[in-house]
Amino acid sequence: MSKKKKQQGHYCRICGRFRANEKFGGKGHGEHVCKDCNRDIQEQKREKKRATKQAAEVGLPAPKRYPMTRYQAGSYLGITPSAFDYRRKTLELEPCGTYEGRQGTGFLFDMETIIAVYHFNQEENQEE
Ligand SMILES: [Zn+2]
Repeated sequence: MSKKKKQQGHYCRICGRFRANEKFGGKGHGEHVCKDCNRDIQEQKREKKRATKQAAEVGLPAPKRYPMTRYQAGSYLGITPSAFDYRRKTLELEPCGTYEGRQGTGFLFDMETIIAVYHFNQEENQEE
């Protein structure tokens, strides 16, 4: 009788890879998230926390999602996505990253950009 080899490792639900046990640790183990992905998630949490603090400093509410797409940033600031895009282009601000959506690749924006657009928008409103 051959001993059936026990399958080692776990499936990571974030990166979709089947990885060795040692690639999982602590909390990530039960949640099916490998150490690499877990590190990314922790990093994102820190980023969001930082963004929340930046937003609070200028009187904006805590962002639900971060970084934001132009749709999210627009609704966050109470302007249309194209208005957001137009303003950030006028300010020559670059996206901080991209994401793969149903409509193809989209851009993501960080809090510095969103706040800059917010201030720009306020200045415009004052001129009216
Ligand atoms: Zn992973």
